[in-house]
Amino acid sequence: MNYRQQFSLWICIQSLILVCFLSVPSAALAGDVVVIGGTERQKRFVSCVAKVSANELRALPNSDQPMTFLILEQQKFLQARDAFHANRTKLAFSNLAIRRIYLSSRVFTDSDTALRCVPHELGHFVTQSRFEGPAELAAERIRWRTRQTCGRAVQ
Ligand SMILES: [Zn+2]
Repeated sequence: MNYRQQFSLWICIQSLILVCFLSVPSAALAGDVVVIGGTERQKRFVSCVAKVSANELRALPNSDQPMTFLILEQQKFLQARDAFHANRTKLAFSNLAIRRIYLSSRVFTDSDTALRCVPHELGHFVTQSRFEGPAELAAERIRWRTRQTCGRAVQ
């Protein structure tokens, strides 16, 4: 993508997010979790994983800001990924600064992938680290609690 395409995609994403926030004002309360896109079941699963991570997330700076999950169709996900230069990932990435997690809808292809990816991304937030090692350590704890509490992401 050239610079102008990237810029217009960025504007699209921004206005998409703005529209979503305007249409769900009550979901954007401080400290809350906002899930945009995906099916009802996917939304429930993601909210539940965020909930079982809440104690660890609360200790972070900016924890009064809402955390946003965006579930995007694969093509849209890849465009967002390229715009953020998160080029190595195929399924999910996080932006710690703006407290936003991008998930491809392919994360929900099967329960194992969902259980691998969603806690992993939250692991990056809990550790406030871009590195995979520390994120995975935290993700294992979150996965364990997810298995106890959240049921399955797909039927
Ligand atoms: Zn990672």
